[in-house]
Amino acid sequence: GFKCGIVGLPNVGKSTLFNALTQTAAAQAANYPFCTIEPNVGDVAVPEPRLKKLAEIAGSKEIIPARMNFVDIAGLVAGASKGEGLGNQFLANIRETDAIAYVLRCFDDDDVTHVANKIDPLADLETVETELMLADLESLEKRRANLEKKAKTGDKEAKATLSLIDLALEQLNNGRPARFAEVPKEERKAWRGLQLLTTKPVLFIANVDEDSAATGNAYSELVFKRAEEEGAEAVVISAKIESELALLEDEERAEYLETLGLEEAGLDRLIHTGYKLLDLQTYFTVGPKEARAWTIREGWTAPQAAGVIHGDFEKGFIRAETIPYEDFVACGGESAAKEAGKMRAEGKEYIVKDGDVMHFRFNV
Ligand code: GDP
Repeated sequence: GFKCGIVGLPNVGKSTLFNALTQTAAAQAANYPFCTIEPNVGDVAVPEPRLKKLAEIAGSKEIIPARMNFVDIAGLVAGASKGEGLGNQFLANIRETDAIAYVLRCFDDDDVTHVANKIDPLADLETVETELMLADLESLEKRRANLEKKAKTGDKEAKATLSLIDLALEQLNNGRPARFAEVPKEERKAWRGLQLLTTKPVLFIANVDEDSAATGNAYSELVFKRAEEEGAEAVVISAKIESELALLEDEERAEYLETLGLEEAGLDRLIHTGYKLLDLQTYFTVGPKEARAWTIREGWTAPQAAGVIHGDFEKGFIRAETIPYEDFVACGGESAAKEAGKMRAEGKEYIVKDGDVMHFRFNV
């Protein structure tokens, strides 16, 4: 599954937010089996209203949502890149994630100390990001010396890697995360292979006070402006409110959201933004036993999508019987959609679309 790391300075609301995420997951655990929760990893159901609709139509016994992992990466302080305190563990945890969500403190509260004694979300962002940049710098410098020797002996691969490393170093030495480097398309795979921390896509979570949950505030505006400049994603959340929402049943939750002037819980927005950030999308498998959502990247072919269910589905792929979500709903189910000519037989080259209801045929 896809993994999003939650980072930030101490006392910005990371744990509050993470606990709200996992409490919601725990509350849903009865409905959604196989929900495992480790201390710092939250395995969270992806909110997907279309899934319920499909299950109703097909009379599916069970609804199984897609999942996304959130990892609470505690222990970031200035100096983490030097392995102070929890530093090393912290960096190892971040390395494993697909994206990084920065929790930025956008609330005033004299009772909650700020490590720098001042509420300044952009300065906080820079403090945290600097640690990640320093870690990347150090790891690249280490690798560079070796590669340079190899490149001098005419090793082509070493040469290619070296030029990518220099591309990253150019950004980092200018105090910018490596994700700002312009990497030619044909080298993107090797670029990802460098496994840098500052090439991961980022998302800013502006943690605002309870009164600003719907509107945001002056601090969160700064965060959004920065996100726009950088082409990053941002969401306004009040972790405090999310922790209250997490304890409510569906109906009460909807009522509370309405009184707050919110269309969707912050956590749902967070998960959806994570999807957008990672270019993720959803397809469905629907039958009498279960209706299930699966997560894939945009642009994946039908066999790749099938591979998320099982490797054999990808290897032995023959075709995918495909009905777009809207047609499935409008026709009132699979057989009616088929009769109406809305079921297509798609082959190996088919690029799966968001909302496709799929049935894979494969050789074993
Ligand atoms: P962490 O160190 O980043 O994990 O921060 P915590 O989640 O432990 O939060 C630190 C303190 O800030 C706790 O006392 C929280 O109750 C408080 N806090 C977190 N989010 C909010 C918020 O949105 N508003 C207010 N007023 N306090 C918050």
